[in-house]
Amino acid sequence: MGLVVQKYGGSSVADAEGIKRVAKRIVDAKKNGHQVVVVVSAMGDTTDELIDLAEQVSPIPAGREFDMLLTAGERISMALLAMAIKNLGHEAQSFTGSQAGVITDSVHNKARIIDVTPGRIRTALDEGNIAIVAGFQGVSQDKKDITTLGRGGSDTTAVALAAALDAEVCEIYTDVDGVFTADPRVVKKARKIDWISFEDMLELASSGSKVLLHRCVEYARRYNIPIHVRSSFSGLQGTWVSNEPRGDRKVEQAIISGVAHDTSEAKITVVGVPDKPGEAAAIFRTIANAEINIDMVVQNVSAASTGLTDISFTLPKTEGRKAIDALEKQKDAIGFESLRYDDQIGKISLVGAGMKTNPGVTASFFEALSDAGVNIELISTSEIRISVVTRADDVNEAVRAVHTAFGLDSDSAEAVVYGGTGR
Ligand code: ADP
Ligand code: ASP
Ligand code: MG
Repeated sequence: MGLVVQKYGGSSVADAEGIKRVAKRIVDAKKNGHQVVVVVSAMGDTTDELIDLAEQVSPIPAGREFDMLLTAGERISMALLAMAIKNLGHEAQSFTGSQAGVITDSVHNKARIIDVTPGRIRTALDEGNIAIVAGFQGVSQDKKDITTLGRGGSDTTAVALAAALDAEVCEIYTDVDGVFTADPRVVKKARKIDWISFEDMLELASSGSKVLLHRCVEYARRYNIPIHVRSSFSGLQGTWVSNEPRGDRKVEQAIISGVAHDTSEAKITVVGVPDKPGEAAAIFRTIANAEINIDMVVQNVSAASTGLTDISFTLPKTEGRKAIDALEKQKDAIGFESLRYDDQIGKISLVGAGMKTNPGVTASFFEALSDAGVNIELISTSEIRISVVTRADDVNEAVRAVHTAFGLDSDSAEAVVYGGTGR
């Protein structure tokens, strides 16, 4: 029996009962002969509550202090979980990200893991302990400051530890039974996927299926760590995410893996940009210098009479203020007329490797949206994904329409959501 890494999300450890329930599961894995490393998130909506608190004392909190605050959430759950395990008669030790050897760069609020040196975790395991690690955090290599990995970052902690410790599997325990063909909170008839390739999962994750974070999937693909996404509330098999289907089960790669949606982005339109070389470069250099990642970009055809054009792009809402401030400062240097900010948008994406070889997928996608009366504002595609931006109010309807149009609706039981607030 090898080493397993288990990650429990916030909804799985939302209260004392949840922590005790999870402790039992962990002890069962240990009793089955595994060495067990557990990565745990903050309880319930603790991280959101800490963010709200920070914003009440400062509209743009300093990155270093913000990270110091947010990592407190995971420290609470790791200590309580270790206590609960000890109460069941088993040895457990909790570790912060820094103690577990999670070394990151120094970009606060969205640090990247650059190395994992889990010496203390190995020692704890060798001494017969269950090791509990606080997710979503590390320590910066140069400044030795505490960092966080971005929202949902405990998934990445888990896979990074699984890679560093050469684990057999990384189990991600959450509040649904696995990865579904759409968010079960939106599509009751969503179907559980038994196996999905890293490639398709990566696209779903980066298109907003927050059941797994895209950085975590990227990491798992790079180190070839199989992920098993499953519920901490049921005993059911979940979804395997890996390069190849496992064992003798002949699972065909689906043409369409699923529909993802995302309402966490906003759209900025730079109005009245002179249509000449270097303008787009100047705009996006300004955004990059502010360390903001953008998603879609669209440039309109310029009006012949004015020689001016508009450039629109999408970005996380949380970066909206910063992006507007950065562009305003460069207004004269870049030479645009004005900025428009719109945070009432949503994105719907259809993902599947089969798109490459099946003509007509794009046409059917647009037909489904049109039949549902949904207006499209922006479009972007990759080889295995089509995404559109619509009004935020249209997103749920659009997801359900596309899910049905591509024959993804399940005809058996409804998808179960066991907990969490979906926040
Ligand atoms: P955790 O607290 O365990 O990290 P998250 O809230 O981050 O849980 O992720 C689980 C949630 O992801 C589910 O409750 C579900 O609403 C959402 N979700 C979005 N897309 C999907 C999908 N395709 N399959 C399953 N869950 C999804
Ligand atoms: N607690 C952090 C968050 O809510 C990290 C995580 O849950 O993965 O984003
Ligand atoms: Mg999560």
